[in-house]
Amino acid sequence: MRVLVVEDEEAIASALEKGLIKEGYAVDIAGDGLEAIEKASINNYDVVCLDLNLPRIDGLEVCRRLREDRFGGGIIMLTARSTIKERIEGLDMGADDYLVKPFAFSELKARIRAVTRREGGLREPVLNTRGLELDPNTNRVKRDGREIHLTPKEFSLLYYLARNEGRAVPQEELLEHIWDEHANPFTQTVKVHMNNLRRKLNEGFEEQLIETIRGKGYVL
Ligand code: CA
Repeated sequence: MRVLVVEDEEAIASALEKGLIKEGYAVDIAGDGLEAIEKASINNYDVVCLDLNLPRIDGLEVCRRLREDRFGGGIIMLTARSTIKERIEGLDMGADDYLVKPFAFSELKARIRAVTRREGGLREPVLNTRGLELDPNTNRVKRDGREIHLTPKEFSLLYYLARNEGRAVPQEELLEHIWDEHANPFTQTVKVHMNNLRRKLNEGFEEQLIETIRGKGYVL
């Protein structure tokens, strides 16, 4: 796996380089946008980690040009900016993911793994509905571009409801599809997980996405 780190701050660039090499990646560094485009046109990168604020041309433009040149690898934006508008811009320009600075190196590693796994071809469909983006390959959820961290179980619940959008899904059905055979149907398992899911999903948003319909179940 070969990674291009595009970062003008040398301290950050060399820290990322060292960390990634330790993880077994081959790493190249570009200190500005033009150098990044040049290197990407010569070498075959699996992933580009792309700082947004760069001299000469900025990360968004680099991203746009890479995709225009049919760069097929993953692009992860590294950004100090964090408004929803700017994140969406990055995704619209063809970025696969982004990290807001400062981030933990372990998180970058996880994103790189996720992005490269996605490039592998065995992708399940990403669901987009009601401002939600659900990626079953990575268990990642975004609402209006904002990432929401769910447990695998919570993700499965949400994904199941999203696939059945508009239909009230009974608790028994959820138990059947999402829990294994050891789940006890008489416990509050579904309810407890559903409450947690709702809390995470709705935090900071006006609209509640999951409704309970008495006697029928849950509906997205
Ligand atoms: Ca920078």
